[in-house]
Amino acid sequence: MAETVFAKILRKEIDARIVHEDDQCVAFHDINPQAPVHVLIIPRKELLNVNEMADEDEQLIGHLFKVARDLASTLDLTERGYRLVINNGDHAGQTVAHLHVHLLGGRRMTWPPG
Ligand code: 5GP
Repeated sequence: MAETVFAKILRKEIDARIVHEDDQCVAFHDINPQAPVHVLIIPRKELLNVNEMADEDEQLIGHLFKVARDLASTLDLTERGYRLVINNGDHAGQTVAHLHVHLLGGRRMTWPPG
């Protein structure tokens, strides 16, 4: 798989405003935020997207959502609500080839997404 900017963030070769890290994932502020809070949660494991998810990754993907829930609480989003997004592949607008969950909050979202 081609090297991504997220792989460099994981190896701390480029800076990111990291808000959480553990043995399975890292979370950091998006460089181009689309909401007052815009955090990306990425697995340490190099997975392109949900298509590449193996059965054994079930716990890992659940872990990303658990971290999102906890970060939403830390960032004071729980009560007002927030959006979790995974852009999966070309038509969804995925631009970085490393699975990531967007945690967006701090403003009212619209639906449907563009
Ligand atoms: P996607 O469009 O693939 O769902 O989301 C990729 C996200 O990564 C975009 O929101 C983009 O702003 C963010 N991003 C791309 N490069 C960097 C970077 O070097 N640092 C950080 N913090 N975010 C990045």
